[in-house]
Amino acid sequence: MNCRVALKVDCDTLEGTREGVPRLVEILGKRGIRATFYFTFGPDRSGRAALRVFTQKGFLTKMLRSRAGSLYGWRTMLSGTLLPAPSIARGSADAMRAAAAAGHDTGVHGWDHVGWHDGLDRMAPERVAGEYGLAHAEYLRIFGKPARTSAAPGWTVSARSLEVQEERSLSHASDTRLGPPFFPSAGGRTFGTLEIPTTLPTLDETLAWPELRGDDAQRAFFRGAPKGTEVHTIHAEVEGRSKAPLFGAILDDWLAAGFTFPLLSELAAEALGDRDQIPTREIVKTRLPGRGGTVATGWPAGPVGSTAKS
Ligand SMILES: [Zn+2]
Repeated sequence: MNCRVALKVDCDTLEGTREGVPRLVEILGKRGIRATFYFTFGPDRSGRAALRVFTQKGFLTKMLRSRAGSLYGWRTMLSGTLLPAPSIARGSADAMRAAAAAGHDTGVHGWDHVGWHDGLDRMAPERVAGEYGLAHAEYLRIFGKPARTSAAPGWTVSARSLEVQEERSLSHASDTRLGPPFFPSAGGRTFGTLEIPTTLPTLDETLAWPELRGDDAQRAFFRGAPKGTEVHTIHAEVEGRSKAPLFGAILDDWLAAGFTFPLLSELAAEALGDRDQIPTREIVKTRLPGRGGTVATGWPAGPVGSTAKS
């Protein structure tokens, strides 16, 4: 079976970007694998995520099971709560540029990850455009050219966020979960920015699955998870730090199985080469095992980890 796994790297925090990204560049470089890195540029208020313990069903269980403190680091857990929120772009622009220089693809994840993830539905329309615009301006300042792709924080989108995304003439976006690429529709409008969903469960989800206890069980699960062409999201805060050895082992298993690792831009070019065959799908919210809250999807009926076009 010739599986392909496009690696999407979400960088949500200052520590994850400054320390996790260089570690991931090293892990990937050693194995000759390229990935697509999505950066968050604004304030790191990730500690606010800790507040969800008290407000969201299922989150506390996940935090305890995954030992979130050691998984994310206590500094990250407290950022923006007890500690002031630092600017991610100011603290880690060099790490971002080094990832691009190593041959990886880069794009925009967001401005204020926690604010977007927790508050997009209540955000004023001009603030949605403002935050998205700030992230793109910062990308342009750091990389010297406009971003060609973006990926919504926490797979959280709205009709408004898709509208401001559409104004950027991106090659593709990766905002949703499950299923093959499609053109999204929301709020009565169909958008022309190709959406390439994440198809596999993420490690920060599977760490909370009671049936997968320990790194060996995790490794065995991911060894068999790809069924065709998949998009796998990893987190610089997790796979680039405490779970780096496990991530390296998962990559080694996939390499041993003969899997290849296309960039998201390569999957986009492939899909857009046959544009008439790309379906249009309505964006809805769904829940995934091991993840608190909801995520956006165009394929709500699809099984978890369903396979993209192979
Ligand atoms: Zn993220």
